[in-house]
Amino acid sequence: MTIGVLGGGQLGRMLALAAYPLGETFVFLDPSRGAPAGQVGDQVVGAYDDLAKLAELAKRCRVVTYEFESVPVAAARFLEAHAPVYPPPRALEVAQDRLNEKRFVAELGIATSPFFGVSTHEELEHAVEALGLPVVAKTRNFGYDGKGQAVMRTPEDVAAAWETLSGAPLIVERFVPFERELSILGVRGKDGTKRFWPLVENRHERGILRRSTAPAPFSTPADAARVQAQAEAISAQILDALEYVGVLAVELFDTPSGLVVNEMAPRVHNSGHWTIEGSVTSQFENHVRAILDLPLGDTSAPGPSVMINLIGGWPERAALLALPHVHLHLYGKTAQPGRKVGHVTIAGAGADTTRLADQVEAMARTSGSFRE
Ligand code: AMP
Repeated sequence: MTIGVLGGGQLGRMLALAAYPLGETFVFLDPSRGAPAGQVGDQVVGAYDDLAKLAELAKRCRVVTYEFESVPVAAARFLEAHAPVYPPPRALEVAQDRLNEKRFVAELGIATSPFFGVSTHEELEHAVEALGLPVVAKTRNFGYDGKGQAVMRTPEDVAAAWETLSGAPLIVERFVPFERELSILGVRGKDGTKRFWPLVENRHERGILRRSTAPAPFSTPADAARVQAQAEAISAQILDALEYVGVLAVELFDTPSGLVVNEMAPRVHNSGHWTIEGSVTSQFENHVRAILDLPLGDTSAPGPSVMINLIGGWPERAALLALPHVHLHLYGKTAQPGRKVGHVTIAGAGADTTRLADQVEAMARTSGSFRE
């Protein structure tokens, strides 16, 4: 029997590549023919709300998972009648709406930026007054990579943001003056066992992840252990509250007064790609182990890793592969401005990791569409 996956992008492709050695096979449901995962597994071409296609997927697999969080919750619930769906559709439901997500996290007693739900101009003005500028407005649904967002620093910005974002329900939150962005990746098995990878430091550009460093650097080992414990406690609370099965990513702001949750992704995550070569068990393999009720693997990292996204294009393969400790992943996508088409991980390079990563990042910039 087979693992069914809603979504056939690069995350699905890497799930399949990680699980073939375990003897698994895959079928992906994705509307675009020739999707990255369809190149390495079977693909049902169809929309996520096409009941006939969903039924076809369900018939062919013993367990269903998803690799992006914009699949309709109704599709996941429909599939649940035919096969187990992990992570639970409830996680999808919570994560799809930024307002529900923030409420859910805040109700667990976890620190978030103060926020308001906003549907009218009056509500926006009230939120701005209550929170104080600067604030960030985001559409509640279907935002990703910084899309559907506006930062307001002045009253003029508020009017302009209302022009561009009004029409869609919004969440407005206080701007967090963070020192850096971190993410914690955790995995939970059906018996409640949890494991966490080392914290990752993430640098975004124009809302798109550019570079992840793992483990995130800290000034002292004691600091690293303290913040890692805080992040694990946050992730553990969310995982248990959702009776979660699989990999969950939680994006965090590192602030002088502690960690603040920005958002979560109920799936394998871009900031965990380094785990393929950089940790004992990758996020992809552990996700599959979790949904199949197999023992979870060791999540430790023997040394530092850096992952650089290839955005809009990629450098010549031979030039990249001439560098030591470079691991290249191309997703089988055509290059388009702003599109993630691959990534490079530098792992096993010890003290040379940052130097090599800077070199790869410079190459990625000149080859991609990510030009200023
Ligand atoms: P998101 O789509 O929520 O991950 O937001 C995209 C990026 O916008 C984040 O990675 C942050 O860099 C920034 N951002 C989002 N929310 C806030 C906030 N409340 N304060 C400061 N920056 C934010």
